[in-house]
Amino acid sequence: GSSSSSTLPRQRVTTKGSNVPTRIENFGELKDRYNISSRLLDNLTQNGYIDPTGIQSYGVPILLESRDLAAISPTGTGKTLSYLLPMFAALGSPHPKTPVPGSLGVRALIIAPTRELSHQIYNECLKLAQGRKWRIVLFSKATANTLSDRDVRDKTDIIVSTPLRLVASLQSGGLELHNVRHLVLDEADRLLDSEFLSQVEEVVAACTHTSLQKAVFSATLPANAENIAMGMLRDPIRVVVGLKDT
Ligand code: ADP
Ligand code: MG
Repeated sequence: GSSSSSTLPRQRVTTKGSNVPTRIENFGELKDRYNISSRLLDNLTQNGYIDPTGIQSYGVPILLESRDLAAISPTGTGKTLSYLLPMFAALGSPHPKTPVPGSLGVRALIIAPTRELSHQIYNECLKLAQGRKWRIVLFSKATANTLSDRDVRDKTDIIVSTPLRLVASLQSGGLELHNVRHLVLDEADRLLDSEFLSQVEEVVAACTHTSLQKAVFSATLPANAENIAMGMLRDPIRVVVGLKDT
């Protein structure tokens, strides 16, 4: 692939990969370029997201163009919105009341290493979900029980979870991931480290949909974790954001 770099305020962004989509300068461009709904854009401004950060400028178009992504950007640079915005846009609408045969089941899955981080991601989901009846599940022992109800499971749009919880439910048969189209590993450096790796691999293997999009996000990605990540991704684009001061 080719390499390029450009400078945003206080951030230096480097991309690597084939046919990297052009970055966005502002969120409003998404309407014309990707037909993103006004409601979703309104939810951004209402929550104080006025201008995209570096990782959002590059990451959002990449994910909206259905590419796999490895995103490395420092803590506090808005990685969460980088994947949630394109996820909501791609899902379009909540599961319909009358289920469409062949497209039942959770459509997007976000894996994070800790319960606390999962909770933060879930709260960010709720901001973008405003005004529509999305079914978003923060996975826990309690919600695992709820999801054992097939009706609930069939119509869930997004699950946020730690790896172990997912593995437990996969093994008990209380969870199916064959309809997942969007898979995100957040804080991937920790998820791809020895403690979690086999669990994450088991979950990824259960996401069998042919048009599964995968993305990994991290503040840092040591060589070992990066090699594993790149092995999981298909024709990925790698985006690295560095603060200019560092
Ligand atoms: P990271 O995962 O990179 O550490 P977060 O996604 O947790 O960063 O975001 C850090 C903070 O920045 C959060 O409080 C979030 O609401 C805020 N934020 C994210 N994107 C924007 C934006 N475009 N404009 C303003 N604030 C933002
Ligand atoms: Mg984060």
